[in-house]
Amino acid sequence: MSYKKETICIQGGWQPGNGEARVLPIYQSTTFKYSTSEEMGKLFDLEAEGYFYSRLQNPTCDAVAQKICDLEGGAAAMLTSSGQSATMLAVTNICEAGDHVVCAAKVYGGTSNLLGVTLKRFGVEVTLVDQDDPEEELEKAFQPNTKAVFAETVSNPAGVVLDIEKFARLAHSHGVPLICDNTFATPINCRPFEFGADIVTHSTTKYMDGHAMAVGGCIVDSGNFDWNAHADKYPGLTTPDESYHGVVYTERFGKKAYITKATAQLMRDMGACQSPQNAFLTNIGLETLHLRVPRHCENALKVAKYLENHEKVEWVEYAGLESSKYYELAQKYMPDGVCGVLSFGPKGGKEGAMRFTNALKMISIVTHVADARSCVLHPASHTHRQLNDEQLIEAGVLPDLIRLSVGIENVDDIIADLEQALQAV
Ligand SMILES: *Cc1c(COP(=O)(O)O)cnc(C)c1O
Repeated sequence: MSYKKETICIQGGWQPGNGEARVLPIYQSTTFKYSTSEEMGKLFDLEAEGYFYSRLQNPTCDAVAQKICDLEGGAAAMLTSSGQSATMLAVTNICEAGDHVVCAAKVYGGTSNLLGVTLKRFGVEVTLVDQDDPEEELEKAFQPNTKAVFAETVSNPAGVVLDIEKFARLAHSHGVPLICDNTFATPINCRPFEFGADIVTHSTTKYMDGHAMAVGGCIVDSGNFDWNAHADKYPGLTTPDESYHGVVYTERFGKKAYITKATAQLMRDMGACQSPQNAFLTNIGLETLHLRVPRHCENALKVAKYLENHEKVEWVEYAGLESSKYYELAQKYMPDGVCGVLSFGPKGGKEGAMRFTNALKMISIVTHVADARSCVLHPASHTHRQLNDEQLIEAGVLPDLIRLSVGIENVDDIIADLEQALQAV
């Protein structure tokens, strides 16, 4: 039986048997008991399914992964300790030293650091591309050793909307999968698999949790990429894994090959697992995702329109506004709404932006986005404060840029707070 997304948010994942807890229980146990060594042995050989150690799999985490998998329309999914570890495992599951990744330049700072600094130290090279470039230009980034394309459906913080079909076409014409970070749009607004993406990652820390309580991540595989058709590129999936009793993941697990390898091999070795407690909290968030996301979008659009017409505001960027360069892409890929995050510049440059943030009363200054509470960040005086104006512009961060994450309070109260703070500018 396939349900609509609202129903999956509530009913997906945990399917209790007779007499079992109706609500997803927290399996707060590192380990699981078996009666015979033979049974336990089969689990280690991946011949039987079952739990044995929570670093690899845990029933609470699996139920939440299944819910996200169903929301995305995927074939298999796994939770990770954070969005960062989701990106890390999603990439290293198919890339090793000597390989190369094509990545959209406007992605989350943590992602560009991971790819450009840490994975570079591990021997994986990245080429950053301007995702708005035409296909002929983007083609030039590909190399014979390219193994994946990575991009965000809606980028954090720039709010750039990805042309998913263009990126999927490019990736597939080079025989590699497209990995999309769908954190900001969420599957409520956009399901990247429907447009050709192969793998989706999430920082569940944002809208999925929605209450700013639990750091977490998730990887979902569509099961659509044909690893065997490009077997030479992906020996890790298509030839025996000697560290796992010679299992060939594509042979044994079909559409679940990618996630099974990431769990059995990478989670085993890297251990970036999510705690059952955090999975439980994330699940509470997921139960209202379909109600919260539309309200975030509705509020954000009203706030964006209010700012756009304000005499003390220099510019506003929000893909839900008709004036945005990304309006048409947003209409195509996420017609019900983009997300609750927008950016704008108050008059008065960097000083004006600082006066504005200091004058806010309800809207708080935090290093977070995409939860129920409205909040702001002024990169020039927070995350990027070591840079001068020239360096800021080079880094793509305007000195006056305010990132505003519009929450789900009453929009009149949000606007009233913005209004009194803009008067200080
Ligand atoms: C926050 C974020 C991440 C990193 O997630 P964490 O849960 O903080 O590790 C990755 N991608 C995007 C788009 C994000 O917003």
